[in-house]
Amino acid sequence: MKATVRGVTLRYEAIPSEIAREARETLRDRFGHALSVVSTQAPCRNCLRISREPEDLILLSYRPLEDAGPYAEVGPIFIHAAACDRYDNVEAFPPDFADRPLVLRAYDRAGAIFDATVAEPGSAPAVASKFLEDERVAQVHARHVSYTCYDFRIVRGY
Ligand SMILES: [Zn+2]
Repeated sequence: MKATVRGVTLRYEAIPSEIAREARETLRDRFGHALSVVSTQAPCRNCLRISREPEDLILLSYRPLEDAGPYAEVGPIFIHAAACDRYDNVEAFPPDFADRPLVLRAYDRAGAIFDATVAEPGSAPAVASKFLEDERVAQVHARHVSYTCYDFRIVRGY
């Protein structure tokens, strides 16, 4: 998919690498939870691959927004238990998420929610671009449509 939609260049960002590295090395997340390895199918928020077969994954808590206000939710995410490469094709929509609907939440610079919607499969780049055309929007979070777990974020790619 093209990176530029409706004139806005998009950048797709996985969680910071250090979050995954710390969780693997310490089996603790930043909220003090003891972590364990489970065999399951879920999107890895570091490499943004969605396993088709059960894989060894670690479940941890993650806060995708700075803790600047009440919108800074903490929620569960999976990462591969073994080292994997952070998603780095940042100008391309993560292909494993292309065939699913996504909740898209737009946040302003202060971390307050600005708008939200459900994007049908394939429409997330256009919807995110529409949100990011408004200068008041700083970032858009993609989440699972029913579990509502955080998947990745979309920002302007200057
Ligand atoms: Zn991974």
